[in-house]
Amino acid sequence: MSEKSVLEQNNFKFNKKFGQNFIFDKNLLNAIINDSGITKDDDVLEIGPGAGTLTRVIAEKAKKVVSYEIDTSLEPILKENLKGLSNSKIVFADALKTDIAEIEKHFDGNYHIVANLPYYITTPLIFKFVKQTKRVVSMCIMVQKEVGERLTSSNKQGDYGTISAILDFYGKVKILRQVPRHMFTPAPNVDSCIIQITFAKDKYDCNAEMYEKVVRSAFGNRRKTLANNLSKDFSCSKDLVYETLIELGFDQNVRGDALSTDDLVKITKNFDKKINK
Ligand code: SAH
Repeated sequence: MSEKSVLEQNNFKFNKKFGQNFIFDKNLLNAIINDSGITKDDDVLEIGPGAGTLTRVIAEKAKKVVSYEIDTSLEPILKENLKGLSNSKIVFADALKTDIAEIEKHFDGNYHIVANLPYYITTPLIFKFVKQTKRVVSMCIMVQKEVGERLTSSNKQGDYGTISAILDFYGKVKILRQVPRHMFTPAPNVDSCIIQITFAKDKYDCNAEMYEKVVRSAFGNRRKTLANNLSKDFSCSKDLVYETLIELGFDQNVRGDALSTDDLVKITKNFDKKINK
């Protein structure tokens, strides 16, 4: 029986609240797992297996896949669709609310994340795995097209300036492929793309907490200069920030969104020494 007919037979109702847009197309599923570069040496964490279509192709390529699913009405469907797979384990729990230590009990060492995620959890989920663990090697996830574009562009708009500068600090993000809305059941109102985040968490020799504070401040008020933002958020004189900028050869009136990750790291390190003297 096809994976889709198993859903029908179980009278499954797609639930908007859980961001349920499933993929049944075998070519797309195979493309996702090939893009991810997963091999038989790799353990994989999947968030939101849905009907288990992606879970099956992951299990066929990986050493092991552990999938967190919030919707218990999918239990009989997943059981049927994943029959015969000995290296797949489903956990019915909210992936966002589960402690990272609890999730990581399933894996002996490092692991990868592969997921066609619900969009409402994209940002908190990325942050959870970027900030709370060093064991994730890469994340290959479906995101809304615009989110993928902003995460990979140097055009620092809205919240994305902060997220992309933070992701860039911990690793590299790239768009692997575009996925039009009609590839999903039911079709959402937006197009999607698959992004891959490859982590290199010791890429910069710089205090991560301080870097993040500087980034949030730098992009906090875009109409203001970096010196204005930092002096306000760190309660210091503007002259102290000017000293940093002059020493490093930046314009005193530079704005946060003109700065690259490398620039922001240099500024953080210099400013950190001055402010914590
Ligand atoms: N990966 C499947 C389903 C994608 S839809 C496919 O490609 O076909 C997103 C899935 O994530 C749904 O099954 C939904 O129930 C699940 N989900 C939503 N929020 C979740 C959460 N917080 N934790 C775990 N799973 C979640």
